[in-house]
This record gives sequence, C-alpha cells and structure tokens, in this order.
Amino acid sequence: MKVKDILSKYIKKEASVKEIVDYYLSNIEQKNEKYNAFIKIFDREFIYDQVIRSQRMIDEGNITPLVGIPIAIKDNINVKGYPTTCASKILSNYISPYNATVVEKLYAAGAIIIGKTNLDEFAMGSTNENSFYGIVRNPLDPELVSGGSSGGSAVAVAADMVPLSLGSDTGGSIRLPAAFCGIYGLKPTYGVVSRYGLVAYASSLDQIGPFSKYVEDLFMIMQVISGFDPYDSTSSRDFKPDFVDDSMNIKLAFRDVRGLRIGFPTKIVDDPAVEDVVRNSVNDIIRLLEDNGAMIKEIEFPYLEYAIPCYYIIATSEASSNLARYDGVRYGFRANDCEDVRTMMKKSRGEGFGLEVKRRILVGTFCLSSGYYDAYYKKALKVRNIIKKDFQNILKEVDFVIMPTSPTLPWKIGEKINDPVQMYLSDIYTVAVNLAGLPSVNIPYYKYHFPVGIQIISDHFQESKIMSLAYIITNLLGS
Ligand code: GLN
Repeated sequence: MKVKDILSKYIKKEASVKEIVDYYLSNIEQKNEKYNAFIKIFDREFIYDQVIRSQRMIDEGNITPLVGIPIAIKDNINVKGYPTTCASKILSNYISPYNATVVEKLYAAGAIIIGKTNLDEFAMGSTNENSFYGIVRNPLDPELVSGGSSGGSAVAVAADMVPLSLGSDTGGSIRLPAAFCGIYGLKPTYGVVSRYGLVAYASSLDQIGPFSKYVEDLFMIMQVISGFDPYDSTSSRDFKPDFVDDSMNIKLAFRDVRGLRIGFPTKIVDDPAVEDVVRNSVNDIIRLLEDNGAMIKEIEFPYLEYAIPCYYIIATSEASSNLARYDGVRYGFRANDCEDVRTMMKKSRGEGFGLEVKRRILVGTFCLSSGYYDAYYKKALKVRNIIKKDFQNILKEVDFVIMPTSPTLPWKIGEKINDPVQMYLSDIYTVAVNLAGLPSVNIPYYKYHFPVGIQIISDHFQESKIMSLAYIITNLLGS
C-alpha cells in the first residue's frame, strides 16, 4: 500500500492504526526468518504505545505525511532504549541513550518505529554479507545478495514488511540495495538530513535516506526527516522541506520532461564491464525521455575511474579514526581475563570487530600514517576536488545525469566475498556522488528478466527535482 492510501483509510476510518500495524507485523513474522532483514523487532508494548499515540493524533485531525505509518530503521541509527549494534559484536550489548534526530522527527510526525534492520558491519560492504547477525537474502531470489550495506532496510520494504525504512549511504549503501531489490532509494544531498545519532562510518560522506516501494512515498518521508538540525554542524541552515502540501499531496517541481536537459554518459554505459541488461535498461529510459521531449546531451566523466581508489582511501581513513573509540572501555563489548588495559583493548577490538572492518581500519591507519599521509590521504582529497569539479561542470550543462546504479545485477551469495577488490568495484557509479555530496535516487526498471536500478543525479539541494523526475519516469513507464 502507498502511504497516501493508508492515510486515506485512516481519515475515512476504513482502518485503524492497529490494523495496519498488525498487518505489517504479521508479514514480518512470516518472512523475517527467511530473509533476515531485521536484527531487532521492538516489543509489542512499545509498538502499541506508539500506535495509541498515532491513533489519537488521527482522531484529533492532526494528519502528517507519516502519521500511523510503520517504519524500520537501519541498526546504525539510535533509537533510545534499544540496542544500536551496527551489526557488530563490539556493539552487541550497547543500548542507545538517546534518539537520532531523524527518529525524533518520525515520532513527532506520528510514524511507528517497528524495529532495527540488518546491515554490513558498521555499514562497510556492498552485499550485506559482513554482518555479525548473518547475511540478508534478496526477496526477488533468496540465493542472491540483497545489496548493502543497508540490505535489511531494502529487503524490509521490498518484501512488504514495512512500507518505508531508513538507511545510510556513504558510498552507495542506499542506492545499491534499492537497485538489487527493485525498489526506490534516495541518497539526499550531504547536509539535508541530520546525521545526529547516526553512528559514523566516514563522516564527510555519510547521509541518512529513505527506501520505498512507491515513488510518491519518498516525498512523504523526506518532508518529515529533512531540514536543519542544530545538533549536526554539517546540516544545512537554508534547506526547508517543501515536498508535500497541507492535504498530503506531493508537490512536483515540473509536470513533464519537455525541455529538461539530461546528461547521458555514453562511455560509461558502453563499458564492457556493464551487463547488457543494465545497458539496455539505461538506453530504454534515455529513449523514453527523448521521445517525451527531453534534451539528451552526451557527457563525460574524465576522472570517474579514480573515484573508487579516492573513495576507499578517504572512507577507510575516516573510519580508522571514527572506530578508534571502540576500545572496550567506552562502548560495548569487553574481552575477559586480561592482565592489563592495553591487552584488554587489543583483545576487545580483536574479538569485537569482523574481518572487513579490521581490513578497513588497517588500510585507513596506513593511509593516515606519517610518511604516507601526503601520498595517499592528501592526494585523495585533491582527487575528490577534481571529481567534484567534474560534476560541477557537467551540472552547468545539464539538469540531471542518468546512469546505472550498479554495472551488474545482484550476484550469488558468497560469490565475491573472498575478493574485496572485485566487491569494491561494484560501487563505481555510486561513490562519486558521495565524494561530491550530491543527491541521487535509484529507480527500479521492470522490463527484463530482473529489475534494473537506474540512478538519477542532480545538483546540491535539488531533491524536489530528482524525486519529480523519478515520479514522471515511473508514470511514463506505467509502473
Ligand atoms: N560499499 C561501500 C563501502 O563498503 C559503501 C558503503 C556505504 O555506503 N555505507 O564502503
């Protein structure tokens, strides 16, 4: 069900909040064991307290874009009183002492937070195979990876366990699992959604964003979660959400694609590394837009090939610093029987972190160490600037860039897990967007044997335009 349809049932008294919530809870009960999307489903008592509060809001005529709407939250975002594990053993016993700003905003809007979803440990990964709580399976085919790192949030929505969920995207972790599971996923502009209460992976890249099955629902949730937050110094003071009107209708930035300038990176799409079905899908969308009056312009990203090394140096460097705080003293898991503090810290980190997280801490520590800092970290910052300029130049010429979210369809569970470099390469089209801080949405294209994820990118703070184009394309496709 679309959020708008649920709201209309509430307003017409055709359904109560409890009925809707029970419907989704029973889906979770039936499906979660198979897909492993949730790490934690909240106690019934806690959920029903929220239900009572939301029902009261509705009865009093206090209608918001998300009142009475069940939502799942990635388990690296704090919900007070419940664990925030980041899918890591090291935080397995950590209880959140406060709510993330997005969670406060969801509560204030009367949304119902159902539970916490699975992820790659500390959001490091592209397949959700790096979780202390086990892999997440793709509902389109349980032998395939769900995509990551927000695999649980994507699957919870794709398998109808909740209508909406939140994930985080540092280098593609919302868009990639959205692409692999055939749903929508929006990575907002850096600074549009508060990161307060999101456990940091790479702070200069991390953004919280939503997953949905229907494009309209992105407008609804963005209306609630975006906007300035004094607790996040990188949050934008000027951005004001204006995606939904007082009657809960979505606001479109434009109604058709006539005259829109669309950038099409032909070289990328023609790359032999791109699977045929992905290439054909992007070509189909471009043709559709052209047939409907958009102006298609060929564009080039001269430095895109450096995006992966640049991203993996910056992300691991920031991660090595951010993860220094997990020492067995301040947070979470502590190893037993240690003769001194140093041994205790070493053992706690050794036993508490998984393999991929350790690899990243090692790489990041190396890149930041004296003697290598200039050659790696500083160089990566320069490359980041060049990539940003690439985008700036392109976005002077066009309003949007359309390209694949991933060069391939999802692969079999286990297929790439022993080849981290191969795994990192699947992020080629997503990481550049984070390096530049831009917004981007994944839309699913259902025509061939498996849905294909297509990415729409635009300039900073153009969320309304990106979602509008996603909406129009969806309607033109009749899906
Ligand atoms: N796959 C990328 C990584 O492993 C992106 C992860 C993310 O966006 N959190 O770093």
